[in-house]
Amino acid sequence: MATNKFPFFDITRQYEPLHEAVMDSFSKLLKSQSLILGEATAKFEKDMAAWMGVKHAITVASGTDSLILGLRALGVQAGDQVITPAFSFFASTGAILLLGAKPVFVDIDPETYNMSVPDLKKKLHKGIKAIMPVHLYGQTANMTQILELAQSAGVPVIEDFAQSIGATHFGRPAGGMGQIGATSFYPTKNLGGAGEGGLISTNDDALADKVKVLRVHGMRQRYYHEVLGYNSRMDALQCAYLSVKLPHLKTWTEKRAALAQRYLSELRGLEGKGLTLPVTQPGSGHVWNQFVVRLKKRDQVKSFLAENGIPTEIYYPLTIPAQKPLREICPETGWPESERAAQEVLALPIFPELKSEEQAQVITGLKEALG
Ligand SMILES: *Cc1c(COP(=O)(O)O)cnc(C)c1O
Repeated sequence: MATNKFPFFDITRQYEPLHEAVMDSFSKLLKSQSLILGEATAKFEKDMAAWMGVKHAITVASGTDSLILGLRALGVQAGDQVITPAFSFFASTGAILLLGAKPVFVDIDPETYNMSVPDLKKKLHKGIKAIMPVHLYGQTANMTQILELAQSAGVPVIEDFAQSIGATHFGRPAGGMGQIGATSFYPTKNLGGAGEGGLISTNDDALADKVKVLRVHGMRQRYYHEVLGYNSRMDALQCAYLSVKLPHLKTWTEKRAALAQRYLSELRGLEGKGLTLPVTQPGSGHVWNQFVVRLKKRDQVKSFLAENGIPTEIYYPLTIPAQKPLREICPETGWPESERAAQEVLALPIFPELKSEEQAQVITGLKEALG
């Protein structure tokens, strides 16, 4: 295989111009030694809540923890059933399983790769404790209909918006529509930290309070433990780092959107040749964490591109029900659109600093591959 002509994702390009500001901020923080839940954390949480337009933004140790603590705050316990899509990053389901709860898998919509509303309707019953839509690749799920179904069933919604920070659905923010939102600052996300981190968003004071207690060992008053909690605080260093990055997030998102528009217009001609472009739903403010096309001959095209030094990725090669930890829990198949997606999706390079000539090479490569 040829070496890549450029990286699939290069985070160093984004970091470079921020280095001095980050060093200044780290230097102040380290001198203060206020390293856990101090001023830097309070500032970042306040700024994030304002940026998103939610009442509470609470940092936690990772995106996975944001899902775990979010589910716990909603009262999910061992044995409870939680609805989630059969096609996502594994952590959505992992969080449910780690609580001893049972995932109830819903298939995806073939256009958006997000939770299928008709299948949700079929699987939503009295025993369901929570619904976890995932806003995959940067686009929100069909929240209007999901919330309508959830409300009439009296079931809370926890949004996994790890890939969709800043996305909107008819003007409402990802992570601010359901009872709880859960996101990640893993370095490859649209707002990436200098390591691990996550955040829980909510407009509900009581839920915010529960999450805050859960993240510090279930303790409100020092050394008096109300519930069995976690140590899930995000380091103040991460908060300081992310505070330097947050003011740029809007511009970075606009750059992603411009790259997406170029792919959409220049690849349109390949649609009759076995390629399907991503679809943006009406009312959807897409933030393009990934630009994912569907290809009939996905693996062949991926190899051709790799031989020509064009990097691509597959998110995700297996459905969640087909993963090993699910073997005793549910059948491997039964979610046809998720299974088809796992066979056909291919992510093309998209990150704010991707150069015009690099993107041109991806486009040319695809045109050659589908000749
Ligand atoms: C990244 C991601 C997570 C998990 O976040 P971590 O910070 O890596 O724990 C959860 N759900 C989805 C959809 C993700 O993409």
